[in-house]
Amino acid sequence: MSTPMMQQYKSIKSQVPDAILFFRLGDFYEMFGEDAQTAAPVLEIALTGRDSGGGQRTPMCGVPHHAVEGYLVKLVNAGYKVALCEQVEDPQTAKGIVKREITRIISPGTLTDSLAEQKNNFLASVFHEQEWGLAFVDISTGEFTIFQTPSIDILSTELARIRPSELLLPSELLKSKQWHDYYLTQREKKVFQQAALEKRFTDQYETFQEFPIAMKAANGLWQYILETSPGIEPSHILRIDTYRPEHWMLLDPWTRRNLELTEAIRGQGKKGTLLSVLDFTKTAFGGRLLRRWLEQPLLVHEEIVKRLDNVESLMEDSFLRGDLIQLFSKVYDLERLIGKVSYGTANARDLLSLSQTLGLLPQLRFLLTESSAITLKRFIPAFAGLDSLAATLEQAINPEAPISLREGNLLKAGYSQEIDELRSISSGGKAWVAKLENTEKERTGIRSLKVGYNRIFGYYIEVTHTNSHLIPPEYIRKQTLANAERYITPELKEYEQKILGAEEKVMQLEYQLFLELREKVRQLTPKILEAAHALAEIDVYTSLAEAAVRYHYIRPEMTLGGDLKIIEGRHPVVESMLQDTSFVPNDTILRPEKHLALITGPNMAGKSTYMRQVALIVLMAQIGSFVPAQQAIIPIADHIFTRVGASDDLTSGQSTFMVEMHEVAHILRHVTPNSLIILDEVGRGTATYDGLSIAWAVAEYLAGQNIQPKTLFATHYHELTDLEETHPGIFNLHVGVREHGEEIVFLHKIIPGRADRSYGIQVAKLAGLPSQLLQRAKIILHELESSAHDSRKEKLFNADRMTQLSLFETQPLDPLLLELAELSVDDLTPKQALDYLFDLKERI
Ligand code: ADP
Repeated sequence: MSTPMMQQYKSIKSQVPDAILFFRLGDFYEMFGEDAQTAAPVLEIALTGRDSGGGQRTPMCGVPHHAVEGYLVKLVNAGYKVALCEQVEDPQTAKGIVKREITRIISPGTLTDSLAEQKNNFLASVFHEQEWGLAFVDISTGEFTIFQTPSIDILSTELARIRPSELLLPSELLKSKQWHDYYLTQREKKVFQQAALEKRFTDQYETFQEFPIAMKAANGLWQYILETSPGIEPSHILRIDTYRPEHWMLLDPWTRRNLELTEAIRGQGKKGTLLSVLDFTKTAFGGRLLRRWLEQPLLVHEEIVKRLDNVESLMEDSFLRGDLIQLFSKVYDLERLIGKVSYGTANARDLLSLSQTLGLLPQLRFLLTESSAITLKRFIPAFAGLDSLAATLEQAINPEAPISLREGNLLKAGYSQEIDELRSISSGGKAWVAKLENTEKERTGIRSLKVGYNRIFGYYIEVTHTNSHLIPPEYIRKQTLANAERYITPELKEYEQKILGAEEKVMQLEYQLFLELREKVRQLTPKILEAAHALAEIDVYTSLAEAAVRYHYIRPEMTLGGDLKIIEGRHPVVESMLQDTSFVPNDTILRPEKHLALITGPNMAGKSTYMRQVALIVLMAQIGSFVPAQQAIIPIADHIFTRVGASDDLTSGQSTFMVEMHEVAHILRHVTPNSLIILDEVGRGTATYDGLSIAWAVAEYLAGQNIQPKTLFATHYHELTDLEETHPGIFNLHVGVREHGEEIVFLHKIIPGRADRSYGIQVAKLAGLPSQLLQRAKIILHELESSAHDSRKEKLFNADRMTQLSLFETQPLDPLLLELAELSVDDLTPKQALDYLFDLKERI
C-alpha cells in the first residue's frame, strides 16, 4: 500500500523514465528509489530511507531547494538528465495533496546555468530521409540553425565543428556507431514529422521549404525544447538561420585538431591554440563569436575585405581601441541574460547587469560617432532604442537586491509610491518595537528585559524567571523556556500586525512589479539581441586589431587565385610561446605552375612548424585577421587539408596506418585547384618501401596536370626529391642545419633545394639516447649502407631516379667501433671485460 503522495510521485516519475526526478517537498527536493541510489553517490549526500507502507522502505535522498542549481549541474555533468518537479499550488491553501508538476528537464543540451562563458552550448538534432538534416540550438543564447546535406561526411564534419553537448535522434538512427561520441537522447520518428515550427516562424516559410529534411530535425528539436521547459515560450529564439557548406572554408575534424585552432592536441583548454593568441575579447559573446569565426573561415572576397577594413580602422585608431576595450570589460553577457529573461529565471541581479550594460550604449554610440573609423559607423543604429529601458531599470532595481525574488528588497526607494509607503509603515513599526525594550525596562525595572522575534510567536518580551515577580499585570504569558518566560502585550501584537502586514504586502508588490519589468525587457528581446550581436562583432574586431598591434601583424592582400606569397611568415602560436624574438621567419611562394613543395630536413628542424604556419596564415586571413608576416598575398582557399603526425585513433579502433590512409583518401577525393594541403610524413605508418611508394604516388598524383592544389609535403623519404626533375609542378625545399663536428644546430631556415642528410643519429643524441645505443645505431646504419644497393630496391624503383641519401648514408665508421661490434661480450669474464675497457680507452 502506498501513500497518496507516493502515488502522485509514481505518476509523475512515469512521465520521465530517463531522468532523475527531483520531487519538491517543502524546502527540499527529494529523490526516491533508484533515482536516490544513483544520485546520492554523485552528489555526495546521505542515502536514507522512507517507509513506503507494508513494512517496505524506499531509498531516499534530498537537497535543499535554494542550492539546487549546483546539484543539477553536478548530475548533468556526470551524464544524467534531471526533471524538476515543483509544488504548483500554495501548500497552505491546498486541499488534500499539493498539486505538483514537472517544470523543467535539465540535460547537457538544455542546461542554462554554469556554462563556460566563451563557448556555445549546443543541443543538436539529426534526421535522415533522402538527405541528412541537422538542426542545432544554443538554448542559453537563442541561436537556432538548420542545415541539410546529401553527404554523411559533411554532416559529421559539421557535427564535429559544433560539438553538441547533446544530440537528439529518431530512434531508428540510434544503432549507428556514427554518433558514439555524443550524449544521445532519442525520440520517436513521428515527433520529428509533426510540423511543429512552421506556425511560429511563418515569415521564414520559404527557407523551410528549401530544406525539408533539416526542418524535420528542427521540428524534433523544437518539440524537445518545449517538452523540457513546459509552459515556457522561448521568446529569445527569434529566427531560424540556415547556411550552405559552400559558404565557409571546409575544414575536416582532424585538420581543425591538427591546426589547434580552438583546442590544443595535448592538454586541455585553449592554451597553445590560435584562439589563445588572437583572443583579446572582453565580452562573453565576443569570445564565442571569435571562436566561431575561427572555426568558419570565409570564402567570399568582399566579406573578408570588409572584416579586414574594420580591423584596420581599429588598428589605426588606438584611442578608440583603448576606449572600446575599457567599455567592453564592463559589459555583461546580454545574450544569456536575455535567455534567462525568456525562461523566466532572470532575477533582480540579472536585470541589474542588463541595466548596467544597456547604460553603456550611449557612450558606445558617442565613441563610434566621434571616431574616424568610417566602417564601424554602420553599427551605431544597433545601439539605439534601449535608453529608456536602461533608465527605467536603473531607477527600479536595487543594487543590493538578493538572489531570491520572494524576500523583497528588489526595488529602489522612489520607484513605487505604494512600496515606499508600506516600507515606512513597516520600518515605523520596527522603530517602535526597538524603542519598546528601553521604555519597558524603565517602567518595570527589569534590566535584563529583551524584545525578540521568532517565526512562530512573532514579537515577544522575554524576562528571566528571577524577575518574574516584577511582571506587570497586562503581560500575557506565551511560552516558557528553561530560564525565562516570553510574554506579549496587546499593543505589541497590534504593531506586529502592522509590520508583518506591510512587509508581506511589500514583498508581494515588489515581486509583481519586478515581473512587469522583466516582461518589459522580454518585449524588447529583438532589439537587445541586435545590440548584443553588434557588440560581439565590434569586440572581435577590436580583439583582432589588438593582436595585430601587439604581435606586429600585417594586412594580407586577398586574391581570387594565382600565387600564394608569404614573405617572412611566422607561426603565430610558436612565436608567442618563445619568450624572446628568436622565431626565424620564412618565406613561402607557391604558384600554380610550381605548386608542390617537397620539404626535407632532419626531425626537429622546423618542417611542421613551417607548414602549419602557412595554413594558419591563410586561415587567419580568411577570418579577417591580420597575419604574422612582412607581406602576404593570399589566394582564397576553399579547403585547408592536413595530414599530420601519426596518432592512433584508438577510439575508432583503427590503426595508425588506416587512419593515415583514410585521411589521404579524403583529401584526394575532395581536393580542388583552390585547396591548400599540408602533408607531413605520409606513408610513415607502414613498412619503409610501402610507405615510400605511397608517398611517391601521392606526390605524383597531386602534381598531375588538372588539379594543382597548393601543397606542402614534408617527407623523410629523400628519394622523393628527385620528383623535382620529372614533374614541373614540384620543387624542393629543405631546412637549414649547421654542423659542428658531431653536433648539429637547427637554423629553422627554409632554403631551396634538397637536404643532403637526415642527421637522425645526431637528433637522437640531442634527445639524450644513451651513447652505447647510439654507437650501435651507427653500426647498423653502416651495415645498411654497405647493402645499400639492395636488389629489392633496384627492382622497385628506377635506379637512375633514386638517390641513396638519408637512410643509407653516414660518416665512415671508426675501426674501434667495428671491433667492438664483433666482440662477444657473453664470452668474457667480468675481469676480462674490465681489462678490455681499459685497453680500449688507451687506444682512443
Ligand atoms: P619537424 O617537423 O622538422 O620535426 P618542428 O616543426 O616540430 O620540427 O619544430 C621543432 C621545434 O623547433 C619547434 O617546437 C620549435 O620550438 C622550433 N622551431 C621550429 N621552427 C622554428 C622557427 N622558424 N624559429 C624558431 N624556432 C622554431
